Amino acid sequence: MMDKKNIDWSNIGFGYMQTDKRYVANYKDGTWSEGVLTEDANITMNECACVLQYAQTCFEGLKAYTTEKGDIVTFRPDLNAERMIDTAKRLEMPPISKEQFLDAVKQVVEANAAYVPPYGSGATLYLRPYMFGSNSVIGVKPADEYQFRLFCTPVGPYFKGGAKPITIRVCDFDRAAPHGTGHVKAGLNYAMSLHAIVDAHNQGYDENMYLDAATRTKVEETGGANFLFVTKDGKVVTPKSDTILPSITRRSLMYVAKEYLGLEVEEREVLLSEVSEFTECGLCGTAAVISPVGKIVDHGKEICFPSGMDEMGPVIKKLYDTLTGIQMGRIEAPEGWIYKIC
Ligand SMILES: *Cc1c(COP(=O)(O)O)cnc(C)c1O
Repeated sequence: MMDKKNIDWSNIGFGYMQTDKRYVANYKDGTWSEGVLTEDANITMNECACVLQYAQTCFEGLKAYTTEKGDIVTFRPDLNAERMIDTAKRLEMPPISKEQFLDAVKQVVEANAAYVPPYGSGATLYLRPYMFGSNSVIGVKPADEYQFRLFCTPVGPYFKGGAKPITIRVCDFDRAAPHGTGHVKAGLNYAMSLHAIVDAHNQGYDENMYLDAATRTKVEETGGANFLFVTKDGKVVTPKSDTILPSITRRSLMYVAKEYLGLEVEEREVLLSEVSEFTECGLCGTAAVISPVGKIVDHGKEICFPSGMDEMGPVIKKLYDTLTGIQMGRIEAPEGWIYKIC
């Protein structure tokens, strides 16, 4: 076993820390090159690169971590590969194959094994695959040349000292248009959300709840996480919409709810007007797995969940414990969920 870097694992935040190696592949003349690992964390490109002018870029996010047994693994990276292919197609970018994506994950994690936090530290190695149009484009059209990169950075436990429920507001800005790009992981969706999140923080809220842009009556998601709700009779409900990003964490939690916890699950339209009838609410994504929501503020009207502002509600907690148990190897995983790296 390789020596770990001298890092205070339980006290690092959720920020970028440069690691030793990252993967780079280039697309030119219609084909992707074989990727290589490089120590160079900087990118040099033309001032008129398509990504800089027209935001032709997309990304993914996943984690590597150490299981109870001491294996270094990643969680369902095949789904990240598939989602990146879907995103690339929507942005007129040449998708990288699933095999190459998974090989990049393996190479980067192996090469930076000294940065994978030990089991029990609460920290993980965050992996960031991304792709961008790199040649100069001034008339509006897709680039002809692309770069795919994958770097990693250790990140601390998302919640220091336990998961405290957060307060979110119903947002007056929209995240995704009907027939737009809300269902793919495009950088442009995040550029759009920056003003809304800064404004939310200035007003004292942790996150924005976005509604459907067409009618503004249905719950969509936040800037970077999907919603889960729990009904009075213990059913787990998640919003269904063509403009929501299909979170891998949310899909995994819905499976866990049904198959591990025996709960009823429902993916359907969720009206803002019915949210006050739910008993628990959580936000799901790779970074935090689930963040409990204690309160939603809709233009001065407060919706307070019975689970309160001190701890996770009981169903959300069970979902959280079960999925993190599966990820860390304490609970048997469904076939194909855990990819052993080394
Ligand atoms: C990445 C992302 C999520 C979370 O997806 P995971 O696969 O669970 O990490 C949710 N919403 C948006 C808008 C995202 O970009």
